[in-house]
Amino acid sequence: MDICQRISRLKKTSYSDEIKHVIDNESTVLICYPEYNEAYDYVDKMFPKLNVKDIKIYIYDRDHSIGILSKKQFYGFYNVSFDSVFVAKREEGSLISIDETIVHELFHYVSFHDNDNNLSGIYEEYFAYANSLKYFKSKGWSDDDLIRKYLFPFFSIKFSKKLAMNKAKYFLIKHMKKDTPTNKNDFLNIL
Ligand SMILES: [Zn+2]
Repeated sequence: MDICQRISRLKKTSYSDEIKHVIDNESTVLICYPEYNEAYDYVDKMFPKLNVKDIKIYIYDRDHSIGILSKKQFYGFYNVSFDSVFVAKREEGSLISIDETIVHELFHYVSFHDNDNNLSGIYEEYFAYANSLKYFKSKGWSDDDLIRKYLFPFFSIKFSKKLAMNKAKYFLIKHMKKDTPTNKNDFLNIL
């Protein structure tokens, strides 16, 4: 299970009915900076030129959503047509918290708007995972949890179980060591 589904930049009108439904719904909460400032600040510090703090975040209730957005595996997404981040409300004890999802999704926003990191497909996802690792760590995730519960499920979409685990470990070590944001060039020797 991936933490987000990329609501495609290619099919710009995809899911627009579902998204409009979320925006118009009474149960949806609109977040603007400085709410969730820790999440915004983390991404903004790494990519200060991209006005990350201007991005709107809609926190929506799956039970009041339609279509794909009502599905439980959906944690959040960034949509380029609405230029906003959408995050599903969590039940107690959920693995990934709302602010952690916000950080991950804001990196999708960055990936779209930063010319140096305009990535597509799997690389865009690598970018979001790599750059969010230190935030997750600061929230108390152990290296083992990051590997098993955050990275491994993502890598197992593409690779066999064993290979996915090795990739997850390598990915963590490589990106935790970096003291600069991960960029496009860092992915060349990952695949
Ligand atoms: Zn993602």
